[in-house]
Amino acid sequence: MDNETHFKRLVIAAYRLPFKLNKTKKGYKAVQNSGGLVSAILALSENFKKSNKDLKNSKIVWAGITDNLPDDVTSDNFENENFDILPVTIPKKINDLFYGGFCNDLIWPLFHYFPSYAVFNSDYFKAYEEANIKFCEELAKTIKPGDFVWIHDYQLMLLPEMIRQRVPDATIGFFLHIPFPSFEIFRLLPRNWRESVIKGLLGADLIGFHTNDYTQNFIKSVRRTTGYECQQNTIYTPNKLVKADAFPIGIDYDKFHDACLKKSVIAEKQKLKNHLSNHKLIFSVDRLDYSKGLLLKLKGYETFLEMYPEWRSKVVFNMVVVPSRDNIEKYKKMKKEIESTVGRINGKYSSLSWQSIIYQYKSLTFNELIALYNLSEVGLITPLRDGMNLVAKEYVACQVENEGVLILSEMAGAAAEMNEALIINPVDNIEMAEAIFKALEMKSEEKHLRLEKMQNRISNYDVFAWAFDFFNQTFETKEEQNTRNVRFINTSISSQIVSDYKKAASRILFLDYDGTLVPFEKYPELAVIDKKTLKIVKDLSKNPKNKVVIISGRDKKFLETQFAGINVILVAEHGYYIKKGTDEWEATMNTDEQWKEAVLPILNEYVSRCNGTFIEEKTGSIAWHYRNADSDFAQLRLHELKDDLAEVIRFKTDLEILEGHKVLEVKSGRYDKGQAANSLMSEQDFGFIFAAGDDKTDEFLFTALPDSANTIRVGLSPSFAKYNVTDIPALLTLLEELPV
Ligand code: UDP
Repeated sequence: MDNETHFKRLVIAAYRLPFKLNKTKKGYKAVQNSGGLVSAILALSENFKKSNKDLKNSKIVWAGITDNLPDDVTSDNFENENFDILPVTIPKKINDLFYGGFCNDLIWPLFHYFPSYAVFNSDYFKAYEEANIKFCEELAKTIKPGDFVWIHDYQLMLLPEMIRQRVPDATIGFFLHIPFPSFEIFRLLPRNWRESVIKGLLGADLIGFHTNDYTQNFIKSVRRTTGYECQQNTIYTPNKLVKADAFPIGIDYDKFHDACLKKSVIAEKQKLKNHLSNHKLIFSVDRLDYSKGLLLKLKGYETFLEMYPEWRSKVVFNMVVVPSRDNIEKYKKMKKEIESTVGRINGKYSSLSWQSIIYQYKSLTFNELIALYNLSEVGLITPLRDGMNLVAKEYVACQVENEGVLILSEMAGAAAEMNEALIINPVDNIEMAEAIFKALEMKSEEKHLRLEKMQNRISNYDVFAWAFDFFNQTFETKEEQNTRNVRFINTSISSQIVSDYKKAASRILFLDYDGTLVPFEKYPELAVIDKKTLKIVKDLSKNPKNKVVIISGRDKKFLETQFAGINVILVAEHGYYIKKGTDEWEATMNTDEQWKEAVLPILNEYVSRCNGTFIEEKTGSIAWHYRNADSDFAQLRLHELKDDLAEVIRFKTDLEILEGHKVLEVKSGRYDKGQAANSLMSEQDFGFIFAAGDDKTDEFLFTALPDSANTIRVGLSPSFAKYNVTDIPALLTLLEELPV
């Protein structure tokens, strides 16, 4: 992969540092854990060092919190051979409200679709802001130009924008490791909190999620919270474009797969086999959490024993629950309930020679985990909601003999990539019971087939590929930002434009109408030009050195009425018609209007299907306006409409769809504002070229004009234009500065 010259140093920020602390004579030694993220980052760093000699001694900076951090620890006496560690300390009181409160009592339940567990407390949000500021302050001390800042997870959602404020040019990636919920859930956050979260995240250049569903949920929340324009996975913020995309995190596949062949694991397996005698093994391992659906899993297993009595005494379910947050009342209660349910099921079904469930509340060693994955006939992974679920992937990686079957909840992010598993709804105990039966009865051939497909996929897109992919996409986003960027006009640029204007012997000025000279109104016919603006245009058009072109999507009649008696060139319908001074209108194309018979009924249907939309019919085109409709609903209809139109367009190759500001237009013939401008430009040489527009259709104009042209996009959107002005008054001020 191409990652040679992209950055000089990697700075990672995640809530918890992946290190244990050992006291040494000089200070502290940080012993890194063996998690997938750490391995991926190390592999990345090795790769960069190999491909870029200057980086030989450079380290990765890892910022975060670690438990029981002694007061005297600093980034200077906290040593690790691979990382520079930046310990972030947050006072306990704040940390309790931030991490225990906002993160784990609000965001965690809400984002996992447990809104009734969510606690809303204004102190939580204050602490969340404070903790993010603390991270930002520490990081600001170290971030240098050229660094890549990679921020992780729901504890730090305000941090990207905070860093952006301090280091505007920084390259920032953000990855969310939990689900991003639908807007109906997200909107439960108080308005200013949800705005802060969305704007905080949009400080990044790229925002990564585990699945496309989470990405789309996020984009919808951006649209509903900020009103920013979003197209596919690109969000146009006032300052820059931001990408959101799916990067399903992978595992260190080889580590898990190869571990099955290690002597120590084989010995562990033998021990287990002796205990199991000939029983088939069903295995699950989950952290203690309500999102993991542990009671429902027990219910499903009990239903299985009930529905298939012939399997009783032939199967054992080893349910491992890894301790987590069990000092909190809700978790304590859940643990008790699990334990009493296990007791009840065992009491009901077990016998002197057979125990139906082996329940363990503990962490497993790596060898134990691998042996259990490898030995079990069924992996029962049934969370109620899970961002990804790595256990599912690890289970599949450990099937070296290809004899296991994965049962997987459709609510786990992993299900999006592992549809060869037996996919179930964890709430449906009968479906779960049937799946267990199917898994136990499955023929080897089918098991192999299913596993091989999943293994191929997860071994190709492992945690290393995931990290590289995220990096490359971030840099591609940066490149796209550079070609379509926002550069606001300042006084020195506007003085330069005025001086170039003065020097030129002949000039041409292209001015779009709606959104450029005149603000949008509810209905197009209401958007008429005011006297002051008309005078500016008139004064410019009086100068014999100037050609002023009003270049618009409007029809002939409307433009003629607005600019009656003024010496301008009018370009109507995006270039279909041109009128020079007092000459007649000239059509640049010749098309019959028969095509409208196929298109008009479709557009009319969408007027009925989407309240507030209306049609504007012109000679060469028909427009469907949706500016007065509910914006989300209109977006949905817009996609459907495009699908319907695609069918018609397939057979009429001269038809085109043009999208503008809250309008979709179908036009016949390949003309646009750029071609119209080129044809006017070819008549004469101009020493000064100026063009202003506010819309996607004006981008054709900007790209068609020579590099020397002063092209200006009105509004905040990134553009091919050289400069942006914030709004219509700002453009009018600039036009007024041009001497008449
Ligand atoms: N795991 C662990 N200790 C154990 C058993 C499992 O650390 O005793 C690991 C397991 O290998 C997996 C992770 O914990 O990598 C659980 O990740 P997952 O995405 O399945 O769930 P999470 O706990 O992150 O919600």
